[in-house]
Amino acid sequence: MRSVINLSSLRLPIAPGKLYIALSDQDRDSDPMTVTETAADFDLAARPAPLVDPFNRAITYLRVSVTDRCDFRCVYCMSENMSFLPKADVLTLEELDRLCSAFVAKGVRKLRLTGGEPLVRRGIMTLFASLSRHLAAGTLDELTVTTNGSQLARYASELAGHGVRRINVSLDTLDPDKFRAITRWGELDKVLAGVAAAKAAGLAVKINAVALKGVNEDELVRLTEWAHGEGMDLTIIEVMPLGDIGEGRLDQYLPLSMARARLAERFTLEDIDYRTGGPARYVRVAETGGRLGFITPLTHNFCESCNRVRITCTGTLFMCLGQEDAADLRTPLRASEGNELLYVAIDEAITRKPKGHDFVIDRRHKRPALARHMSVTGG
Ligand code: SAM
Repeated sequence: MRSVINLSSLRLPIAPGKLYIALSDQDRDSDPMTVTETAADFDLAARPAPLVDPFNRAITYLRVSVTDRCDFRCVYCMSENMSFLPKADVLTLEELDRLCSAFVAKGVRKLRLTGGEPLVRRGIMTLFASLSRHLAAGTLDELTVTTNGSQLARYASELAGHGVRRINVSLDTLDPDKFRAITRWGELDKVLAGVAAAKAAGLAVKINAVALKGVNEDELVRLTEWAHGEGMDLTIIEVMPLGDIGEGRLDQYLPLSMARARLAERFTLEDIDYRTGGPARYVRVAETGGRLGFITPLTHNFCESCNRVRITCTGTLFMCLGQEDAADLRTPLRASEGNELLYVAIDEAITRKPKGHDFVIDRRHKRPALARHMSVTGG
């Protein structure tokens, strides 16, 4: 049975001259990964209002940690002996799809899958495949991923086939021994092969490097020359005090003001307006012609323009990477097949989005600012 809907009454971005078809519930395929919008999705009452937080910031960017597991144990991210979540607590791929789609219905335009290592989650390509329908429908601008690159040789062309256009690859050093020391378990060659596969598949690759005092601070020039020589942007990230890692943060912490000063000894850095929707501030390196980004959660807090929220693989919504406050979305997600309870829970959580975070790393703050690791919330 087809429902007739007055499109003008819907709070939808309706393009003139386009044909809109809303299917009734009976048309929904029983396979949850073959998703079609139902009449309920298009109904005025069911159509959720967009997300705007108390500081008038529109929430348009969702990062989803699809697993807390990783095939690396980066020294600044995890301790060597991590205990991971029981599988039963983790949302299924179908549930992750439903959660992401609820946010898309509420105006999220950019989805980033992360982790843990997202590409080690079994069946993860089916999630990319199903989420790509939002790209096709024009309700999502970007579907992307942050990865350590270890599985990219295997998945790069599939990702491109599912509409992924740009990816972030985390890589802190080009020295194989240092790479092994930082990641504990990783192999540099494998990651470089993954980067090459991604480029061959037509993906734009951005390299993310965490600046680590006494570890890669002398390599930032080389990393810049390499990334730009390969046609990739590079972003340098300040280490954040997240989770107990079994060693002192102060030993790792390199303020990016210092990293930038070192880079400026070798390069001419010109501030540019380029933005990717994330927190990085970019410069153009005159000598290489490439873009270099700085993410400075500590030395320069970037919260005023925050458009992001994060979901863990258990369906916990964190309104801020640097605060403990969270909302459980798994309970409303599992409570019914419709999304009404979920929308109410999301709306309520967004009213609690804080103005910003307040990370500090100094000698008086020896404990992590937050107990949870970056791999839980997703970087
Ligand atoms: N496994 C994927 C990867 O390596 O990109 C995605 C998850 S990882 C947690 C995301 C990013 O967070 C990586 O670039 C990693 O270097 C960064 N990261 C992890 N812990 C961090 C910390 N304490 N401070 C700053 N960046 C961190």
